Amino acid sequence: MKQKKFMLPESEIPTAWYNVQADMPNKPYLPLNPATGEPLKAEDMYAIFPEECARQELNRTDRFIPIPEAVREKYSSYRCTPLVRAYGLEEALGTPAHIYFKNESVSPAGSHKLNSALAQAYYAKQEGTTNITTETGAGQWGGALSYAAKAFGLELAVYMVKISYEQKPYRRSIMQTFGANVTPSPSMSTRAGKDIITYDPNNQGSLGTAISEALELARTTPHCKYVLGSVLNHVCLHQTVIGLEAEKQMELAGEYPDIVIGCFGGGSNFSGISLPFLRHNFFDGKKTRFIAAEPSSCPKLTKGVYLYDFGDVAGYTPKLAMYTLGHNFRPANIHAGGLRYHGSGSIVAQLLKDGFIEAVDIDQLDSFKAGTLFARTEGIIPAPESCHAIAATVKEALECKKTGEKKTILFNLSGHGLVDMSAYDQYIAGDLVNYTVTEKDVLENLAKSDLDPSKAL
Ligand SMILES: *Cc1c(COP(=O)(O)O)cnc(C)c1O
Repeated sequence: MKQKKFMLPESEIPTAWYNVQADMPNKPYLPLNPATGEPLKAEDMYAIFPEECARQELNRTDRFIPIPEAVREKYSSYRCTPLVRAYGLEEALGTPAHIYFKNESVSPAGSHKLNSALAQAYYAKQEGTTNITTETGAGQWGGALSYAAKAFGLELAVYMVKISYEQKPYRRSIMQTFGANVTPSPSMSTRAGKDIITYDPNNQGSLGTAISEALELARTTPHCKYVLGSVLNHVCLHQTVIGLEAEKQMELAGEYPDIVIGCFGGGSNFSGISLPFLRHNFFDGKKTRFIAAEPSSCPKLTKGVYLYDFGDVAGYTPKLAMYTLGHNFRPANIHAGGLRYHGSGSIVAQLLKDGFIEAVDIDQLDSFKAGTLFARTEGIIPAPESCHAIAATVKEALECKKTGEKKTILFNLSGHGLVDMSAYDQYIAGDLVNYTVTEKDVLENLAKSDLDPSKAL
């Protein structure tokens, strides 16, 4: 029998996260205080983020950062996650490529997001915080954090992007079942929300609007910290457990990836699967390609400009160096809610600029076509976000079929789609369409966001 799953015991859960910042030839640009234009110090962020997360955000010296034992213990309820050889998909494609996926959908919340949620909730609790708040797009981050908050005894208030709140009622139920308080965003409960609704009463929300509201709540509530599920350096750091495990599992499989692929919202799962392997490109002469797969309707890496921009619509966050479409970019209502964010994290942005990673944009219909094929051949219904990584994998595997090359491809299955069946219903009924954003659209939106593309970093 062919070996399909490569498993590691709980004792192999990594004891430290990999901090790529220590190894990057060009360090990521620092976050800036928008009022003064000065780089932020960790202390400047203590009011908003758990302090340890703020320190990790700016840590450029420690290559490995220890994972607290209490976090490893919680990880053990679902880690190590399986590495799986996708024989069924390979056969259906008729490709000589070997395809592997790291299955992060097995976490209690159904996605990779718990890897950082548990770490952030732990640090918040350690530092005496009682309440945390956050935003969620598709509801994956909110679901993960709801469980993590409970696991460490914190109260959680979630601002959920309104369109997702309506399209994905079960994610709201999941958060409420874990005990979180959920508000659709934009809402009338914050100044930022009121401003957005006044200007645009039918605003369907975006991650940016929800971030503005959550940040405002954190600022105006005592003992309340804000935590974020993607984009920031410390979130990408926490996700490296994915790649660190995958590295050992690929060894068990006796292979090393030529291509590593992750879907791309703000960069956390892509970073998680990629960065541990990238260090072998830096130091051990490996030539692995790293491909971030983003939606054509929200193409910050392939069509955005590398600029300092706000992380949210209201302009409450520090300025972050990102490939951005402009902080007030309003993405089409695609089903991959977790990929509807206007910018990329600063680490991934610098790696893209320096040519260490690549990006592709994927149409919505191609993503579901690939996801459906994966479901039928591997028996797992992928999250609409993960379908983008699968579509990019299919593309590379078909390229191998053309050239006869026997490449090893590893992709991250960031989550399952069992709470996204209405999206699959619409795909099967032929009701989904593609949305393409052009360079011209991007330039127009940058102008509306007061951003000057000639100032590209
Ligand atoms: C949130 C989410 C993403 C996108 O976020 P990243 O930070 O870019 O990883 C991808 N897949 C799933 C299943 C998600 O929940």
